[in-house]
Amino acid sequence: MGLIVQKFGGSSVANTQKLELVTEHIIYEVEKGNKVVVVVSAQGKTTDRLISEEEEITKTPLKREHDVLVSTGEQITIAKLSMLLNEKNYRAVSLTGWQIPIITNSEFSNSRIKYIHNETVEEYLNAGNIVIVAGFQGVDENGNITTFGRGGSDTTAVALAASLKAERCDIYTDVDGVFTTDPRITDKAKKIKTISYEEMLELSSMGAKVLHNRCVEIGKKYNVPIYVKSTFEKISDGTLITNSGNLEDLVINGVTKDDYISRITIVGIENKIGRSYELFKLLAKHNINVDVIVQSFGEHIIKDIAFTVKMNDLDKTLKILDENKEMLNAKEILHCENLSKVSIIGVGIANKPGVAADMFEALYENNINMHMITTSEIKITVLVNSNEADIAVKAIHQKFFDN
Ligand code: ASP
Ligand code: MG
Repeated sequence: MGLIVQKFGGSSVANTQKLELVTEHIIYEVEKGNKVVVVVSAQGKTTDRLISEEEEITKTPLKREHDVLVSTGEQITIAKLSMLLNEKNYRAVSLTGWQIPIITNSEFSNSRIKYIHNETVEEYLNAGNIVIVAGFQGVDENGNITTFGRGGSDTTAVALAASLKAERCDIYTDVDGVFTTDPRITDKAKKIKTISYEEMLELSSMGAKVLHNRCVEIGKKYNVPIYVKSTFEKISDGTLITNSGNLEDLVINGVTKDDYISRITIVGIENKIGRSYELFKLLAKHNINVDVIVQSFGEHIIKDIAFTVKMNDLDKTLKILDENKEMLNAKEILHCENLSKVSIIGVGIANKPGVAADMFEALYENNINMHMITTSEIKITVLVNSNEADIAVKAIHQKFFDN
């Protein structure tokens, strides 16, 4: 008999009928003799609806009030689910983030968990209750309600699993696990059985929006096995995210795509200590998220630096650079729009020769030009024109997974 944390996302709890399905997964674990903590999201598109209702009032809400508003979606789900379970004669109790409490810092809309008081949850569990927790929310040390950012219920679930030392955390969603690529791009996408935390972090940050990235970080830090499963399948193995497993079997685990990328090139920047620091400090000061960075090398007096920013940051970034052109001492500032990042991810990349060649061959065979290349131990990323990105993903996926 162990302790299991289960999490059900918005599409899994969208209406009463779906909540019924959710109770089956909960009861299944309870009947096996497990203690169960359940974390839920707001029903369906409730959070989106709350945000658009807020926009009818103001586009610049007080951050504190924004969090008070958006945290309410989850509160509806916990009450309903608890009622449903009690109707079926299973004792359940609902708890909001602040009732537990889950203590966070005071960064509204993007708060981080500082610690979780286990006592309340444990008392209810020991008294024979299923504990139903509202996802994506906590409370700061001044008693203000905080939220974790969109998709943050995953983080509530894994953090609770870590804090309560649960056996595992099952994340139920509308897809049956993590796939080698987006099944909407190619029907050849395969379900991944086991994946390491590192690979999963890369997959999510590179555009595979299955899990909230912070939940994977917490899982990794506290060694919580995370299963991603489908709510809509009775028995689902899903994907296991863990440190162990047969990670070396496949060279790569996934092909991802991230759209709406632009590349900025600063031509002829002085090759002097501190120049790049000044440049990126300037962008950081204006809250511009810079991603891939490539610098030309060699002992020249000048060099070029290229980096990517999201399309919606492009105008702002160009304006800042233009205003600071003299300070940066740059010859020219160029940019290129409508690009996509296409990446392959896998712990096998570093040890297996020819992986990059295979990836580039797939692009070459499809006449696709690469605008930038970067690599890490477990990832190779290229920039391509957005209108060729799906073909690129398909071709690369075929190269590595079709045999
Ligand atoms: N309800 C929140 C959202 O829609 C949190 C979550 O679903 O994880 O972003
Ligand atoms: Mg989600």
